[in-house]
Amino acid sequence: MLRFAPSPTGDMHIGNLRAAIFNYIIAKQKGEKFLIRIEDTDFARNIEGKDKEILATLNLFGLMGDMVVYQSHNFERHRHFADHLLQNNKAFYCYCTKDFLEKKKQEALEQRLPFRYDNTWAMLQKDENPRPVVRLRGSMEAVCFEDTIKGKLVFEPHELDSFVILREDGVPTYNFACACDDMIYDISFIVRGEDHVSNTPKQILVQQALGYTQTLGYAHLPIILGENGKKMSKRDTSSSVHWLLEQGFLPQAIINYLISMGNKTPTEIFTLQEATEWFDIASVAKSPVKFDIKRLRYINREHFKKLTEDDFALLLGTQDVRIGALAKLHLEEASTLNEIRQKLDLIFAPKDIHAKYEGEDFHTECLELFYVLKSMAEEPIDTYESFKNIAIKESNLKGKRFFKPLRILLTGESHGLDLGALYPYLKFYLKDILRIKGE
Ligand code: GLU
Repeated sequence: MLRFAPSPTGDMHIGNLRAAIFNYIIAKQKGEKFLIRIEDTDFARNIEGKDKEILATLNLFGLMGDMVVYQSHNFERHRHFADHLLQNNKAFYCYCTKDFLEKKKQEALEQRLPFRYDNTWAMLQKDENPRPVVRLRGSMEAVCFEDTIKGKLVFEPHELDSFVILREDGVPTYNFACACDDMIYDISFIVRGEDHVSNTPKQILVQQALGYTQTLGYAHLPIILGENGKKMSKRDTSSSVHWLLEQGFLPQAIINYLISMGNKTPTEIFTLQEATEWFDIASVAKSPVKFDIKRLRYINREHFKKLTEDDFALLLGTQDVRIGALAKLHLEEASTLNEIRQKLDLIFAPKDIHAKYEGEDFHTECLELFYVLKSMAEEPIDTYESFKNIAIKESNLKGKRFFKPLRILLTGESHGLDLGALYPYLKFYLKDILRIKGE
């Protein structure tokens, strides 16, 4: 089984989504199940409702889990495993108070030594502290594992001291719960962010101590850098999946982009299902990748082009296929649904003909043309050629002095797509389109 294990502690980040996509694809490729595990062990940081929000987002991206589980529902099983480790002397109670450990950390800092827990401290404060934690006995040997992206990784014993597996309130720590659950659900391969590399040896140690013999595969994804070349943080709005969706990026385009990031793909534009045919986690680059919103915009446009006019209309909240067609035309100058919506809104909004920068007579000329067009709109004219010729004749305007007002009156903008291309769609709505602000 493969799994995606989000923590309900914040908004979904593109790095999380990328891990979800890869785990999902590998599950499909191996013919194994895909588990969604909500890692809610950190009660203080859990945000109410985030779990549901994450699940809804995954659904929207078509990354449905065969099973959804909450880590906290397994606490009893985790505690049972901890008891087993205590009985076998693979784990022990540690009575050190927070103050004591803080003092030791301070001492290490002063001596410029890395802080390392010393097992001989475990019982020192037994009389003072009624609430011990449980620690897994640290390793005397190096722990190594093969990472599909990073290659062989080795962790020396001094990096692996005895770490806490049950907190003083009996709640399992993240590493412990995660290692137990990966065993319980028979996880075969884990794709996750590089920030988890140092957790992996600890999780391996837990599983070894419990006598688990299955070897898990790992792939730790390189971090995603922002446009400034620095690690993308939660503060970079474009790293939020929610923000991208709000901007009008299509889920299938975001998926396409995240799969192609730092990866050679046989085609530029593809669907999740197509990627399942050829995706190879081993070919994901190990160096950090830069988030390139321009590229995402391009990919988004390409996915929009693949939509039918009907589907496009539905995305815009209408069943009018002509609106879908009009929207498609605007892909020449817009890349997201919001940008397209803005263009269409401008077409249907009352037009501003008071723009001073267009010259002294602009307002009068617009008004003249407006009345000519308004009368013509009573009986729609089929082709742009005749529409234009009649309007020129009736208005007595020529060249730029005709076309500029015409464009503003029809589209609300002074530059844009070829009016001849737009007219076949605009002609059905001329009465709605021909409105001016404040007149
Ligand atoms: N809950 C972890 C996170 O959201 C994922 C850990 C994992 O995949 O093992 O970063």
